[in-house]
Amino acid sequence: MKLEKFQHKIWLSSPTMHGEELDYVKLAYETNWMSTVGENINEIEREIAELVGCKYAVALSCGTAALHLATKLAGEKLYGMPKPNEGTLRGHKVFCDDMTFDASVNPVAYEDGEAVFIDTEYDTWNMDPQALEKAFEIYPDVKLVVVAHLYGTPAKIDEIKEICGRHGALIIEDAAESLGATYKGKETGTFGDYNAISFNGNKIITGSSGGMFLTDSKADAEKVRKWSTQSRENAPWYQHEEIGYNYRMSNVIAGVVRGQIPHLAEHIAQKKAIYERYKEGFKDLPVTMNPYSPDSEPNFWLSCMLIDREAMCNHVRGDNEAAYVKEPGKTCPTEILETLAKYNAEGRPIWKPMHMQPIYRMNAFITRDGNGRANSNAYIQGAGTIDVGADIFDRGLCLPSDNKMTAEEQDMVIEIARSCFA
Ligand SMILES: *Cc1c(COP(=O)(O)O)cnc(C)c1O
Repeated sequence: MKLEKFQHKIWLSSPTMHGEELDYVKLAYETNWMSTVGENINEIEREIAELVGCKYAVALSCGTAALHLATKLAGEKLYGMPKPNEGTLRGHKVFCDDMTFDASVNPVAYEDGEAVFIDTEYDTWNMDPQALEKAFEIYPDVKLVVVAHLYGTPAKIDEIKEICGRHGALIIEDAAESLGATYKGKETGTFGDYNAISFNGNKIITGSSGGMFLTDSKADAEKVRKWSTQSRENAPWYQHEEIGYNYRMSNVIAGVVRGQIPHLAEHIAQKKAIYERYKEGFKDLPVTMNPYSPDSEPNFWLSCMLIDREAMCNHVRGDNEAAYVKEPGKTCPTEILETLAKYNAEGRPIWKPMHMQPIYRMNAFITRDGNGRANSNAYIQGAGTIDVGADIFDRGLCLPSDNKMTAEEQDMVIEIARSCFA
């Protein structure tokens, strides 16, 4: 196959619209429910609760808002009502994923808590239960854990729940990337004490933006609803007993989400086909695809590859730049991403681990052996892989995973990636 530049860009993951979205947006317009109240909001809250199997869903402006209010609920439950100028987690540590999007962990900081990062495991690229257990040994007083399902692949949630249960810790489940993914037949977004999903533009289904808080607790759902609409008390005037937020979803956005929900299963099937095609296309290369447990069925939101260490050429990454030295038969994520970009296709590095981020460099980081940051580069020194997140970030990348990419286009993407191993 001759490598050719794509006429139109092949995206990592872009919104895929179907038409019904516009009908529901129009409904909002024509009935003049253009605010944060209306039929679209009520409908999607009902539909999503039914789809994932929880009692209540509260539509919010974004997944980050859902995570923030989840964090605040957990903080209040654990540590009581704070003073108006203090966060609910003031001075308390919270265990969080290390290799994730920062929106997953920033709400801990919004609430004045301190994130302690837990290393990643190779089986699902999510929080390592063994590292979590180690973290509880080191910080036995911690009572809150935020766990995500990266790239739509469920974490080892049973093991994580068992550990948290034993230590009396609550769980916030960040299912922003994993809507529709299941673990032992149960939908993600229902495992935590507090749960969040996202309808951000590049997620499996989108409202252009938006998110939801999911729960079985009526009291929690009501509290999130109240906080998200400026915490108004039941009074003839604007009466406030608590700090409020402007976090409610718009009925226009809800219209887009409403048009997307019927297409969730179809999007997942397309993403799975993309994943399988990559797997087949790369089967003779020194790489593996992002793995998942046989206990789970991912939503295959993004397809990722991990280059075998032996096939890695020398490369380095600074805070803002990367450089590599090409060697025959070897490559690195930077070369593959640059080559894809040259042909007008978009890939992305793996989420850069939080313990390597300037903003979180002072926070604790716990690996499986409990040593944390001291061994950050151990895999480079040949002492065995200890910092799993840093290793996956070093060798991995997200491939173009747009569900509008045709099979022919994907074959070309595969050829482009393969050419880097020459
Ligand atoms: C997208 C995402 C979020 C945030 O959702 P928004 O709707 O963009 O605010 C949180 N956590 C993870 C893991 C995400 O990928």
